[in-house]
Amino acid sequence: MELHLKYARPNAEKDDRPIYYIGPFGSRVSFQSQQRRALNIVGSLIEMNQIEDDDEVAIIGAGLAGMTAFAALSLQGYSVKLYEKGSGILTLQALSRHRYIHPTVNFWPHANPERTTNLPFFDWYSSDCPNVIEALLRQWDEDPNEPSRKDPMDPKYIQQFTVSDPYFNHHMIFSDYDAETRKVCLVEKNSGVRAEVNLVLVTVGFGVEDNLGDLGQNPYWRDDALVDMSRQSGHDVIISGAGDGGLIDCLRFTFEGFKKGDFALDVIEALGKGSYASRENLKSIEEAAGKISNEDERAKFLERSYKSILPKLNRSTKEMLSRALVKRSSGKYANRIRLIGQYSAPFEIGAAPINRLLVAYALQENAIEFINAKLDRDGDGYFLCIDGRKEYLEKGAKVIVRHGPRKALEGFLDDEEAKKLRFAQQAPGDFASEGSFQNHYFIPERSEYPSLDRDPARFAEFRHGLAYKFILERYGALTKLGVDEQGRPEFVAYASAGLPHPPPEKIEKAPDSIFGVPLRKHIEPTKADKSAVGAP
Ligand SMILES: Cc1cc2nc3c(=O)[nH]c(=O)nc-3n(C[C@H](O)[C@H](O)[C@H](O)COP(=O)(O)OP(=O)(O)OC[C@H]3O[C@@H](n4cnc5c(N)ncnc54)[C@H](O)[C@@H]3O)c2cc1C
Repeated sequence: MELHLKYARPNAEKDDRPIYYIGPFGSRVSFQSQQRRALNIVGSLIEMNQIEDDDEVAIIGAGLAGMTAFAALSLQGYSVKLYEKGSGILTLQALSRHRYIHPTVNFWPHANPERTTNLPFFDWYSSDCPNVIEALLRQWDEDPNEPSRKDPMDPKYIQQFTVSDPYFNHHMIFSDYDAETRKVCLVEKNSGVRAEVNLVLVTVGFGVEDNLGDLGQNPYWRDDALVDMSRQSGHDVIISGAGDGGLIDCLRFTFEGFKKGDFALDVIEALGKGSYASRENLKSIEEAAGKISNEDERAKFLERSYKSILPKLNRSTKEMLSRALVKRSSGKYANRIRLIGQYSAPFEIGAAPINRLLVAYALQENAIEFINAKLDRDGDGYFLCIDGRKEYLEKGAKVIVRHGPRKALEGFLDDEEAKKLRFAQQAPGDFASEGSFQNHYFIPERSEYPSLDRDPARFAEFRHGLAYKFILERYGALTKLGVDEQGRPEFVAYASAGLPHPPPEKIEKAPDSIFGVPLRKHIEPTKADKSAVGAP
């Protein structure tokens, strides 16, 4: 607990201001890991007596971390205000139809690639980004389009537990701290309105992406035409940045069957059928790489190791990769794709191992080229800086810049402090995103909010809609609520007479539990099931 709080501040030993930063520097920061980090911080603040009953709390940023912390503190009865500079919750990602989001894929091989989350609130399942956002918003409010509709007889939506609605269009920055009263003063950047609080959680995410001053650059979360382009020919594509942002865009262009990222999960599943590239082998490679401090040496080590794995992949994985790769005619690929990275190889330890494995395959098959260079831009256009030489890119080239944020935590930390926070948050590895508190910790005993542990039937009923969508989308089956032999609630997945029957082996692949509720797979449709068609 102490560690969670220590890693949430740039200088915990010397600076005891009650301001905590949830991210953005932990390794492999993702939707779910930020939710867990937020829960860990809230739990630790309560357990370490760093928050008092009548404290005023401010949360800055209504992304995944901010909304989770807001829910956790509100359910505990604290007076907490959520400030968001945008016009709503999760607006950044809401329209990203081209991105696929998964709870744990970035953490594989260390974590299982689960397709559903198991959180006290704001559960979701792996899907296209807008589906994930919709799942989150539906738990926030009964009807995101009609936010005023609340049912006091059945409080299940987070908004029914909050002291105030979020303050949108509020770009908050730190103003000052009074050590005597222990009050932090925040100020709204545009209006100058001030807010004095006892505790601040800063959940402002990564910050504005670096676009090298090119307003034509498409931000990561905005829809683009990359997949359409990959089906055409003659494009010269330069993707700069070998973190997950750059690698994913490179893979979207390289693998026809990338399915926005869902393909990575299919590959993990195929690898699980036994091959040299098993989880244990990959884990040892990652651990060995973690011990190499020189980043360039580390990238070269990872390149060698991943390359050596490829010939030993099992047959089904090899076939899957070969089928999914963009086709070439007469031995040539239709488009030229160059990946630019700052080290000798595009294998940065912060990027997800599965993405690196796919890039290693694309490099082996010459579907992409890698150039160790620095991409930049001046009045004459984009250029690569290679060994001190400037090489201008052809004017018609499609350039995608994935260099990460320009400046994180602006308005809260200066560069030096941000560096310290980065150091602190990267030190503990990924531990901060692991569940340190049980889910029911966040739902007080007398709360009306459905808790899996205290009122499993109501919880299962509340999650049924989400489970139904997940099973239908992924496995082509319907889901109803049921009870097991001991009378405990369960979901039952079944083939419906009203839909084309999914093959039984497809339903079999569904997980054994969803959102913590057991799932029974009912393979053969029965007469009773025929009448049970219909969404919850
Ligand atoms: C290029 C890129 C690709 C990614 N791809 C994936 C992926 O595929 N899967 C995945 O799980 N994760 C992915 N992530 C990570 C994912 O974006 C984060 O894990 C998640 O969004 C972090 O949640 P958060 O709440 O910390 O920050 P955010 O979701 O970024 O939310 C921060 C919020 O704070 C607001 N804000 C910022 N400054 C202020 C201020 N001063 N005052 C008020 N409000 C403010 C912002 O408007 C925003 O709404 C990616 C990140 C990047 C940068």
